[in-house]
Amino acid sequence: MTKPWYQEGLKFKCTGCGQCCTGPSGYVWVSSQEAEALAKSLKITLEDFVKKYTRRIGNRLSLLERRRGGQYDCIFLDGKRCTVYEARPQQCRTYPWWPENISTPEDWKQEGFRCEGINHPDAPLISLGEIQKHLEKDN
Ligand code: SF4
Ligand code: SF4
Repeated sequence: MTKPWYQEGLKFKCTGCGQCCTGPSGYVWVSSQEAEALAKSLKITLEDFVKKYTRRIGNRLSLLERRRGGQYDCIFLDGKRCTVYEARPQQCRTYPWWPENISTPEDWKQEGFRCEGINHPDAPLISLGEIQKHLEKDN
């Protein structure tokens, strides 16, 4: 099997800038288990959580967004902080290690315009093994 282009690892360190929780309108998918965990963390019922914080797209649920100027913030973003951090969905936990962000060096560089943690001067090298673990969780 050919090794991926990032076999020597990639530099990344989250600075907590919050940019991955805002931007153009998009989807933050929540599975039923994640919705339950989020409802529990907010101390509300699953039904209330679904009504108050999600929208249905086909047969899936996505978190609501709040419009701010030309941007759309995740409903749980407060300034730069995620207010449900401990219960955040898998999609948030695995960012920026999404297949579309690392399929080519150009994709990784491009994502770096959004996420300042990518190739940050203080960032450690994340090994191929760690990257692959994140990618597996993402599937
Ligand atoms: S955009 Fe990158 S550096 Fe900023 S909070 Fe998200 S993962 Fe961290
Ligand atoms: S749930 Fe938290 S980490 Fe995920 S997009 Fe919303 S604010 Fe960001």
